[in-house]
Amino acid sequence: MYTVHVNLDPRSYDIEIGSGNLRDVVKFCDAEQEDAHSVIITDANIDDLYSEPVADALAEAGSEVDVLVVEPGEASKAAEVAAELWDQMLDLGSDRKSVVIAVGGGVVGDLAGFVAATFARGVRFVQVPTTLLAQVDSSVGGKVGINLPGGKNMVGAFWQPRGVVIDVDVLQSLPDREYRAGLAEVVKYGVIQDVDFFAHLEVNVDPIHAREPKVLTGIIERCCRLKADVVEQDECDKTGLRAILNYGHTFCHAFEAATDYDQLLHGEGVAIGMMCAARLAQRMGRVDGEFVERQRALLEAFGLPLAVPEVEHDELIELMYRDKKVDRGKLRFVLPSRMGHVECVGDVQTDDIRAALAEQS
Ligand code: ADP
Ligand code: ZN
Repeated sequence: MYTVHVNLDPRSYDIEIGSGNLRDVVKFCDAEQEDAHSVIITDANIDDLYSEPVADALAEAGSEVDVLVVEPGEASKAAEVAAELWDQMLDLGSDRKSVVIAVGGGVVGDLAGFVAATFARGVRFVQVPTTLLAQVDSSVGGKVGINLPGGKNMVGAFWQPRGVVIDVDVLQSLPDREYRAGLAEVVKYGVIQDVDFFAHLEVNVDPIHAREPKVLTGIIERCCRLKADVVEQDECDKTGLRAILNYGHTFCHAFEAATDYDQLLHGEGVAIGMMCAARLAQRMGRVDGEFVERQRALLEAFGLPLAVPEVEHDELIELMYRDKKVDRGKLRFVLPSRMGHVECVGDVQTDDIRAALAEQS
């Protein structure tokens, strides 16, 4: 069992990572207090699998427990769904002392976190992430929100959880494609921050494929620590440091938007985007071919797609100009300078971006 302490005084919290530790959620919910009320928000797939053990543990500790279930999928990150959850919480007698517990992947975490941030001007929030992506990414950093028809994550808040419980055992039921997509973000941490971690992943491909709990707890601990290091220095995305977490994401967001968000999983887009960013960096003389090949080999070993989707490159480039990192009309990219280190680079030539899209690795 590992604990990652995220130091954001006074919003500091712990992430607990273990195997078979779902019931530990109790310690973050003050379930034994008089009038304790826990509202579990989950999706229909996860409800069948994991909401019962969490609900039972809370009830046994003395809390009143309600479970609210949304449809699985990105479409649930919508204002209508949030409004329905607010109404349901009101009907259940929730008040400012209630605790919202998100049991699910990134969709449930973002949605439930947003509801927690807004209901009664904000109630306590605890996360139980159940996808690898959510465990290594969305459970650290406090970004919560919903989509608008015209833009992903356009409405939201920074709302830090009281605590996060990561049980790697829940990954056993995760569909293979979702699991592999999560591995793309894991590889990302190695590339942007930690060459030793990258090497650790290279020698552990087999146990990672086997979802070996011991190896997974170690890997997730490292990813959460690496992300926490960044978030602690730039909680609200103001200094630009947090942007390094967006390695591969300028490309990824363009792929996702160009394919209407229904062909690629986010992690798959990240894998392809990291390859484009690596090739772009190579063209700009920042890294050599060996770097690009090393990254490619690991992503491929994890079964991730690497080919740029078949859409017009002009359209992709136009989409990139709408990215949050555009600064006064100039595209900025997070690009590697060596394994384990990236920088935010302005002044990238459109021709180089075009070439990075056109080359395939
Ligand atoms: P992400 O975390 O990648 O944003 P979602 O929240 O959309 O992903 O979850 C992806 C899919 O996997 C959803 O259909 C969800 O219901 C399902 N899911 C999440 N966690 C598990 C799990 N541990 N076992 C099985 N299915 C899961
Ligand atoms: Zn991402």
